[in-house]
Amino acid sequence: MELLFRGGILYDPAAGWAGPAEILIKGDRVEAVAGSLGKVDLPVIDLRGKIVLPGLVDMHAHLREPGEEGKETIADGCAAAVAGGFTSLACMPNTYPPADNKTVVSYIRERARRTGLARVYPVGAISKGLEGKELSNMWELASEGVKGFSDDGRPVMDGGLMLRAMQFASSLQLPIISHCEDLSIAEDGVVHAGPTGYQMGLPVIRPAAEAAMIARDLLLQEEVGGKLHLAHISSQKSVAMLKWAAERGVPFTAEVTPHHLFLTEEAAKEFFSDAKMNPPLREIEDQKALQKALQKDLIGVVATDHAPHRPQDKENDFLSAPFGVVGLETALPLVITRLLCQELISWERVVEILSLTPARILNIPGGTLAPGSAADLVVIDPQEERPVEKENFYSRGRNTPFQGWVLKGFPILTMVGGDIKMLAGKVKGFSPDFPALINESLLKESL
Ligand SMILES: [Zn+2]
Ligand SMILES: [Zn+2]
Repeated sequence: MELLFRGGILYDPAAGWAGPAEILIKGDRVEAVAGSLGKVDLPVIDLRGKIVLPGLVDMHAHLREPGEEGKETIADGCAAAVAGGFTSLACMPNTYPPADNKTVVSYIRERARRTGLARVYPVGAISKGLEGKELSNMWELASEGVKGFSDDGRPVMDGGLMLRAMQFASSLQLPIISHCEDLSIAEDGVVHAGPTGYQMGLPVIRPAAEAAMIARDLLLQEEVGGKLHLAHISSQKSVAMLKWAAERGVPFTAEVTPHHLFLTEEAAKEFFSDAKMNPPLREIEDQKALQKALQKDLIGVVATDHAPHRPQDKENDFLSAPFGVVGLETALPLVITRLLCQELISWERVVEILSLTPARILNIPGGTLAPGSAADLVVIDPQEERPVEKENFYSRGRNTPFQGWVLKGFPILTMVGGDIKMLAGKVKGFSPDFPALINESLLKESL
């Protein structure tokens, strides 16, 4: 399909573009980008007043298939992704069975391919069965196309095993994505070791459980080299470790989630289990330190850690409710409303943290709309403002701590590989009136 986007404002820092742009899409690629492409005899989508960004890349999501389809299928997760403006996502290997072998990896890829919405990149397990005892066959996983290794959900407690995993990953030129948590410190904690957590009388997870493991991984990284990516940084103590490593010149990348950026432990008060996650929400000083680290590029990525659960599981008592929140359909408007609109970051930075940097870490297409790139993009209406309504999520998970938050910057169009997958909140293959909607909007003067 050939079509032209006209009248939108494009932010594409990798291509050095920030301003009005006409974008010509041919097949699955971007054919041309220019201030004006002159008269063309093609379908035109008028984007006056809209913002266009390279498609978002979530490098940390949990798709629950295989094994926990009751929580979410790959198809549901991909629908949630494109509804939230994500064109690519990396999914963590803690499925049942886990992605520690090529059969599971190829199953996930095949399911995602058949769904035909977002691009899905499985992350392979570091250890067999995610047990932290014996390395998985990393070479085999790499040849099956995994884009990184992680035991996420659990840390690799054995430092020697992590060292060998880093050496292998480095030789395969793939990143290690580390869930940093010293279990002997965290024990059976469920909330942050702060005033709210202590008041609730629940077992706590100290910031040191995270920071100590980050320090270990950074020290190993300094000796081994390769690519180390630190998942879901949650505390100012951890940020101090990153600063220390950056000053020593240790190469690493790190991510932060929207919930750690915009919430504190108080969200979990009154035993609200939709605010129970690991690492736990911490305090206002932590939140500020994380935002600052993101501004200064100590943390270069915002990732969702999207983790859907069944309502009945989250409705258990707080202690036994599972960790995790959904995030694919709220990440972009949260970043826009709470960081961009507060003038804490620019549009270019939004692209870097939600698209360009994760695409580069994973070494996948995306992050830019320079001619010849994959035609993966997201269109935002910067004027529209509305509350988060979990009843309308495409995700099967309803476990969001952001219900009712009034946000700006929801995506209105998501294109993957030159194909429109989401338009005006309707997702291809999920919304019965979707094809008619596309034709209508192409014919209409303005979207
Ligand atoms: Zn994790
Ligand atoms: Zn995770």
